[in-house]
Order: sequence, then C-alpha cells, then structure tokens
Amino acid sequence: MGDFYHERKVKKTKKDHKCFGCRAKIPTGSSCFYITFVNDGDFGADYLCLKCKEYLVNNPEFARAGYGEGDIRDAMLEDEEWRKQRGKDAVAFQIGKRLPI
Ligand SMILES: [Zn+2]
Repeated sequence: MGDFYHERKVKKTKKDHKCFGCRAKIPTGSSCFYITFVNDGDFGADYLCLKCKEYLVNNPEFARAGYGEGDIRDAMLEDEEWRKQRGKDAVAFQIGKRLPI
C-alpha cells in the first residue's frame, strides 16, 4: 500500500467527489472515506465510496497488494462474474441430478 496510509470517515460530503476505487460519483451529502497516503514519496489524497471500502474490508489481501484508480470496480465486476458463473453451475448440477440421463 505504500509508505503511509490513513483514512477517515466523512459523514457528509460538502461537494461532489469521485471515488478512487470505482470512479463513481460520490454525490454531495453522502458519506464516504477520505484517504491520504504517501507512495514512493508522493503524497496523495482521494475519496472512497462505501462500496469500495466494504470491498477492501472483505478483501484485505487486495488492499495490501495495492491498487490503482478504478481497480476496485474491476475487481468487483470480476467477483460478480465469478459468482454468476458459480450460480449457473449450481443450477446445471441440480437439473443434471433431476434428469435421468
Ligand atoms: Zn467506489
């Protein structure tokens, strides 16, 4: 994650922001996380929406490995694809069991 990382919860944003994790708009008045970090000597500050924050909490190894702008959205989409695929497999399995093939 870099040399320094700090985050704090923002209860209500005073203006629109863009989420670093998924590039979605965080509209005025919503809660989100404000993160500050130093990466290879460069100071950075960005906002994270609650969905991305939740993803990081559930996937600590992803957070540890570090991520760039929009990476969390990509990772979440991959997860969703995987879950959908797994759901399909489960249905196929059930049908297969019921049919006398
Ligand atoms: Zn986000």
